[in-house]
Amino acid sequence: MSFDQWLTQRIEKTKQAGLYRRLRTMSTAPQPQMVVNGTKQIVFSSNNYLGLANDPILIEKALETLNEFGLGSSGSRLTTGNTEWHEKLEQRIANFKKMEAALLFSSGYLANMGVLSSLPVKGDVLLSDQLNHASIIDGCRLSKAETVIYQHADMNSLAQKLRETQKYNRRFIVTDGVFSMDGTIAPLDKIMKLAKRYDAYVIVDDAHATGVLGEGGRGTSELFGVSPDVVIGTLSKAVGIEGGFVSGSSVLIDFLLNHARTFIFQTAVPPASCAAAYAAIDMIEKGKDKRENLLRKIKIIKNTLEAMGFKVYGQDTPIIPVIIGDAETSVQFSKKLQENGIYAPAIRPPTVPNGESRIRLTVTAAHNDTQIEHLLTSFKGIGRELKMIT
Ligand SMILES: *Cc1c(COP(=O)(O)O)cnc(C)c1O
Repeated sequence: MSFDQWLTQRIEKTKQAGLYRRLRTMSTAPQPQMVVNGTKQIVFSSNNYLGLANDPILIEKALETLNEFGLGSSGSRLTTGNTEWHEKLEQRIANFKKMEAALLFSSGYLANMGVLSSLPVKGDVLLSDQLNHASIIDGCRLSKAETVIYQHADMNSLAQKLRETQKYNRRFIVTDGVFSMDGTIAPLDKIMKLAKRYDAYVIVDDAHATGVLGEGGRGTSELFGVSPDVVIGTLSKAVGIEGGFVSGSSVLIDFLLNHARTFIFQTAVPPASCAAAYAAIDMIEKGKDKRENLLRKIKIIKNTLEAMGFKVYGQDTPIIPVIIGDAETSVQFSKKLQENGIYAPAIRPPTVPNGESRIRLTVTAAHNDTQIEHLLTSFKGIGRELKMIT
């Protein structure tokens, strides 16, 4: 068998399992209405929660910095890649997250991998929520510590695992702040209490919460008024740009700078991205009206869909999963939405459990009321057509 034959066979298996993926081509900037594969669609699956990815002021800031500092950063942070914009942004993030210090990574994925592979050591244990993001799972796999999974956001399960793991040197609870497939919020106040009681450290990945949750958009820590040991985040979602970060004590940041391999051996993000992210955080801090506007839209969509008879998961976050049931109907639903000019993907097993296939909607502050109305009317029509609602 040739190399390509072997791979074709493996792809065939992926197709048979209904898990084959393909790319869609966007021909426009990230805004609510985009040209997807050549046709106009209202996009309800973007992470650009505050609409900042296309903000003219931020683009201007990036252009200015591009002209001054060039395209690429030319090296890792520890060689030639560290500009004043990287340092300014880190101070801005620390200040925004109300932490002592912050460290910039090239992505949230790499930030999680860097923290989890360097911080816990052999003889330690990671207690990880069942629904944590792939980058946390991969970080746990890289770690020399053992991993124990607790039931999703279930404090009885977490407490039980904490009792069962007393023999380990150190325990680290690691959780998403907002869960990407269910739209649930980690009960951080309760997690912090358990951590204190059982002498464990807490690591939170606030990728979907940064810019969205809390009075000042600082994330789940602000929402619950707590201060976990390590707060990870991304600049690629509500912040609208790219890059990941870790915030915490100065000692933690000094440690990661010296030990996190995804920091040490990675080229620094472009200075223009840092300058734009700096300005974006300013906007987020002052953007209470944008967040309130977003929350209003979240509530309208959730309440209306529920009133129609749909089963909707999650809490008040921009991630709104509408449960369809079996995988085939979900795909059919998504196709029909597309025919209505709406882009929202079907999420199937193994990403979600059997029988819980869903349309995963996300909404942004940039969507207008007409677009939301069109979404809701389409859901009603398709739901009736497929005899899911009356
Ligand atoms: C998106 C996401 C990441 C990855 O962030 P990137 O900056 O896109 O690499 C990590 N964790 C969670 C929970 C996410 O949703």
